[in-house]
Amino acid sequence: MRAFTLDDYPVPLPPGHRFPMEKYALTLEACLHEGLFTADRLAPAPLAPDAVLLRAHTPAYVTAATTGTLSAPEIRRLGFPWTPALITRCRASVGGTLAAAEAALEDGVAANLAGGTHHAKAGEAEGFCVFNDVACAALELLARGAVSRVAVVDLDVHQGNGTAAILGGHPAVFTLSLHGEKNFPFHKPPSTLDVGLPDGCDDATYLRALDKALPQVMAFEPELVFYIAGADPLKGDSLGRLGLSLHGLAERDRRVMRACRAQGAKVALSMGGGYYKPIHPTVAAHIGTFRVAREVWG
Ligand SMILES: [Zn+2]
Repeated sequence: MRAFTLDDYPVPLPPGHRFPMEKYALTLEACLHEGLFTADRLAPAPLAPDAVLLRAHTPAYVTAATTGTLSAPEIRRLGFPWTPALITRCRASVGGTLAAAEAALEDGVAANLAGGTHHAKAGEAEGFCVFNDVACAALELLARGAVSRVAVVDLDVHQGNGTAAILGGHPAVFTLSLHGEKNFPFHKPPSTLDVGLPDGCDDATYLRALDKALPQVMAFEPELVFYIAGADPLKGDSLGRLGLSLHGLAERDRRVMRACRAQGAKVALSMGGGYYKPIHPTVAAHIGTFRVAREVWG
């Protein structure tokens, strides 16, 4: 499986910042150790040019975000201090998801070892998300004519409000979000299909909901699925509120990827959220996703 990494684009955060930036390097290291990726199939994520960012974002926002002229309230909503290094990394996150999608169209599955920044809207940063990697990549590939129908399967525990706002109503895109109904974001613009789950939701309840939703995605006959395999539905996640086990998350991944493969849909993986303290259970969940990808695609 080809995978794109953001290791070359570190973002130093202030001490004690609640975003667990270290999870990316830990996940990559563990995947290499387990042989899930081999060094010759890894590449640095390319930096997305403005033209790709502009597929999903307004010119005024791209200018403000890339030149450091976002307002103080906008930076508060983002949750990261603005630095040039942050923007470089965010360009790489979009570029990584686009590169993973291109690789998936050739190989069946590929991964961005980051991404899933689904709260970013056309003209607004939010919740650790500057640019919406999946929306940019989906709209870029549709504009190129590389695909004619795509789906977003967003299983991060938080609703994909930015993705829904940007892609909502696009006739060539189906967006599914399974999320904690009472969790952030509190205003949830409609996805094609939203499934809100109760606090503490266990494996069986979650998988039943997923089993009901997936056939609706597959009935759309997407050629490419962007799968945001968030680790934050894990029981005990500091921002999660659901109650899935690692086993339940792996079963979730298996059902999504098997359904895609059976449908003939290619899969571009993005990692999404995961905020365990300390971070190791989150990393275990992310590794589990890549393990299942290997299992399903060989
Ligand atoms: Zn999340």
